[in-house]
Amino acid sequence: MTWVSHKTISFFSACLLGFDIISSFAIALSSILPDAIENNNLKKHRKNSHFWGIWISLIVVGYYFYSQNISALTYNISFFLIYIGLGGFFHVAQDMLTISGVPLFWGSKRKIAIPIIKTKSISEYVFLLFFLTFSFLYLTNSLALNQIYLPHISNVYLTEIILKLKLVSA
Ligand SMILES: [Zn+2]
Repeated sequence: MTWVSHKTISFFSACLLGFDIISSFAIALSSILPDAIENNNLKKHRKNSHFWGIWISLIVVGYYFYSQNISALTYNISFFLIYIGLGGFFHVAQDMLTISGVPLFWGSKRKIAIPIIKTKSISEYVFLLFFLTFSFLYLTNSLALNQIYLPHISNVYLTEIILKLKLVSA
């Protein structure tokens, strides 16, 4: 799948999950990481950087730091890990829809795929169009509307971070 599709689909996936527009943008940028890591070695396409477990682990570790309330630093790191983890996971999930699939396990040659898309073919753009239409219809008919059209909602996160900083420094 192309990077444009990855970023677009990841952005709207994050919006659908209820993330605000700035977080969704960060997640969309992170979604190219699995390919970016591999670009140094094209022969290795869709190897370990496309193993779903790495990205899920980042989300779990991020969520752990978030829930533990250790310090303002770990709180901010938790968001960083969750955004990167989600971006990577969305990428892997999208590549899973292509014919080549993604590794089932770390280092495994076995692939997992639900092959409905051929990269850079009409099927990719049809999928993109369907996904965008679905997202648009869903987001304009749900509470998530607040989060996508009123970016000030993202201030909730900032306020949370500032509150935490105050608590820590107090
Ligand atoms: Zn990829």
